[in-house]
Amino acid sequence: MIEERALSRIGSGSLIIHGGMYDELPTIHRMFRDLTRPEWCRSRKVYYVEKGFGGRVRLRQVTSLPRKGREQDPVLFIGREPIDLDVIKAQIATANVDQALSGVRWELYGDTQLCELVAQGRFDIVDLIPRDRENVHRLVAGGHLNVDLRSGALDFDNILTTHECPKCHCHRFGLDILMFVPEWMRCDACGFSGSSERLPNLSPVFALVRRLDHTKDILPASISNDAPEAMHFVEVVATPALAQLICHWHITVGGGYEKKPYDHFEPENVRRLYERSLFNLLRIEVIRRRFIRCVSEHFNRRIAEFEAGHVPEFCRGEGRDDEIRAQRITEWTQDRQTFEEETEELAHLDELLFDATSIQNGILRLERIRGIISKFTLYLEDLIEVLWEDHCAPTADITERT
Ligand SMILES: [Zn+2]
Repeated sequence: MIEERALSRIGSGSLIIHGGMYDELPTIHRMFRDLTRPEWCRSRKVYYVEKGFGGRVRLRQVTSLPRKGREQDPVLFIGREPIDLDVIKAQIATANVDQALSGVRWELYGDTQLCELVAQGRFDIVDLIPRDRENVHRLVAGGHLNVDLRSGALDFDNILTTHECPKCHCHRFGLDILMFVPEWMRCDACGFSGSSERLPNLSPVFALVRRLDHTKDILPASISNDAPEAMHFVEVVATPALAQLICHWHITVGGGYEKKPYDHFEPENVRRLYERSLFNLLRIEVIRRRFIRCVSEHFNRRIAEFEAGHVPEFCRGEGRDDEIRAQRITEWTQDRQTFEEETEELAHLDELLFDATSIQNGILRLERIRGIISKFTLYLEDLIEVLWEDHCAPTADITERT
């Protein structure tokens, strides 16, 4: 069990650590971290430590495979033996600040031939920054730690970026949700309400796109046999960014709609975002069917709970238990059906985004798509719940838990 701590912010040269970004976050974020474990990542960044040179140690990165020679491998850090593993990991973190790296793991080797794997982990503050507070202060005092630790710089999963208020920026809200669309945003600090106000700017979307653009030197990884198929659908940067962009489109009564995003966003950027998003994958029928099957499992479980006689506490008092059960079963079944239909519709999102004819004539369709997309990120959370339950209790009987 990893002891989870995190750096909350950096003051004037001193590190302030508190117990746990992931520790404090609500369940959905901890589930997400647990699922995007290093062994299940489809991509990796590869580093190694090279010793010699009169006691000097070099941290180098492998930027392509096969390699032409280690001379091609960039040097990220030079230290002296004995080298502290915490220092190396912190240097890997600082070489990747402001990048979107969910689903990418780091690997550290102790030799130039990449035979001796020393450590590997997620790109996150837990796996890259020393958990030992005293050691951190010692490393900083000794001038060994040269790391960019701005709050958010090491937000490789973009949890903080996607939860920033677009108006006042300083307040992060709604951490019980993994991904946001503007309609759901409510800021206690400045009063911004996504359902009643236009977004003042697209800064959260820009921030995400910038982070995607900065991502580089990623190598493919062989996929572990025990990685669930549904992991292919867990995409948390491009999908919500595109969702935010589309939900920001304004429809003017009686005459077309303003293409606000394109005022600031080059069409090729929108296309790039689309290509990296889950919506692009949904165009492929076999993948779409699999996605529907995976998320439907969430609905199936809820239905099975009611069929097994369970009535949650919050439903009590609304009527007789059997009536409540029957009603909830009907609702969940309808939701499952709606989800399936809406996913089929999202398979044609590219037409709406990039087909000029469709844009001219598709106002009603856009309204509908906006509605679908604002729900869609919830389905991704359902998917994570399904995956996590499988992981934690693969043989769990639903009736036993209720
Ligand atoms: Zn605010």
